[in-house]
Amino acid sequence: ATFGTLSDRLAETFKNLRTKGKLSPADVDSTVREIRRALLDADVALEVVKDFTGKVRERALGDEVNKALNPAQQVVQIVNEELVQILGGTQRRLEFAKKPPTIIMLAGLQGAGKTTLAGKLAKWLAKDNHTPLLVAADLQRPNAVNQLQIVGGQAGVPVFAPEPGNGVGNPVKVAKDSIKFATDKLYDTVIIDTAGRLGVDADMMKQAADIRRAVDPDEVLFVIDAMIGQDAVATARAFQEGVDFTGVVLTKLDGDARGGAALSVASVTGRPIIFASTGETLDDFEPFYPDRMASRILDLGDVLSLIEQAQSAFDEEEARAVAEKFATDSFTLEDFLKQMQQLRNVGSIKKMMGMLPGAGGLKQQLENFDEKEIVRTEAIIQSMTKAERQNPKLLNGSRRLRIARGSGMTVTDVNSLIQRFEQASKMMKTVAKGGVPNVPGMGPI
Ligand code: GDP
Repeated sequence: ATFGTLSDRLAETFKNLRTKGKLSPADVDSTVREIRRALLDADVALEVVKDFTGKVRERALGDEVNKALNPAQQVVQIVNEELVQILGGTQRRLEFAKKPPTIIMLAGLQGAGKTTLAGKLAKWLAKDNHTPLLVAADLQRPNAVNQLQIVGGQAGVPVFAPEPGNGVGNPVKVAKDSIKFATDKLYDTVIIDTAGRLGVDADMMKQAADIRRAVDPDEVLFVIDAMIGQDAVATARAFQEGVDFTGVVLTKLDGDARGGAALSVASVTGRPIIFASTGETLDDFEPFYPDRMASRILDLGDVLSLIEQAQSAFDEEEARAVAEKFATDSFTLEDFLKQMQQLRNVGSIKKMMGMLPGAGGLKQQLENFDEKEIVRTEAIIQSMTKAERQNPKLLNGSRRLRIARGSGMTVTDVNSLIQRFEQASKMMKTVAKGGVPNVPGMGPI
């Protein structure tokens, strides 16, 4: 599938890093070199590759690295974030006109998948309670109008096509007429399919630009075949100059493409990828999410979720605040409970651990980790008064009995919790003098 090779190559690169204790500049250099080669082999444009690897290198050498992650994970995280950036950052939704109809014009080379896309988009919009109208303004290719009619039939969406003898051969007039028709008949979106040629040519550009000028679309979507490889950048630039567009649609992402177009076009044109087309049937279509695509390229969905969870459990600020509390002897049972609750979040990672190479240490700790223990501790602490939680010294025999009853535990359970708390406080106090403590369970992954 698309990105298969790139994913494999990147995974290989990261694997080589996994056992290392610390990232040396030499490690960073060799990793970046491998990433560069993998991207070039995937047909990503050289200028994009240079920019990308430059940023990864700078960040990997910099000191913003995340201490909760090991070196390989740090690199994965950086590469992931930079991939999301070159894919456009955040998701860009289709923009609708304040006053309907919303006009969407499609442009691109012949065979890019425009007509198919018109049907997909129409079907998708109809499902979302819109009332789209398809417009056949591709009057170049003999069968194009007919093809759009077939696609419209499949989507259950009407097609506006030139009447015989009226507007035949004049796509600008067809496009203009369609807007009036849509306004009269209350269609809320108009999707205009335009002519493409096999290669970029001036006539085609002029025609598309004329249509654009005539109907002033809310969106001009540049449709590009992901399999086009190194030509992606030149083609995209030609369309940007000739017609300009507001967004990109990548087609044939289901194919065996090496993915270079996907990674080059948004970054080179500065226009967001809005949709992805992933097959020949009308349902093979989805909004484009840069973050999901990056995870797909890295093929590391599980690792990334793990990183996120590890990060949220290991909030450095918080760890520092806790250390401060230990050092000043103001760590309370409430803090203790909070720490345990954080561990529970980590507990949910257990399931994923099987897929994660190089996580043996944490895995063992998590295996030994008993979720019920947290529930019991929670019950006991929640049965305490605020004053007791903040000052466990108050906990005499009768208070302990009350808490045991309130929480459905035994006095022995309560005693054992308080004992563990005191041990932990004592131990952590010592550690805290040396700096940030190791949050229990969150040692180096
Ligand atoms: P147009 O000339 O730009 O209108 O392109 P078409 O819509 O006619 O598509 C050209 C060919 O690509 C057709 O055979 C489509 O079935 C096929 N096609 C379009 N989109 C996709 C896609 O996402 N995946 C695959 N595998 N084929 C596609």
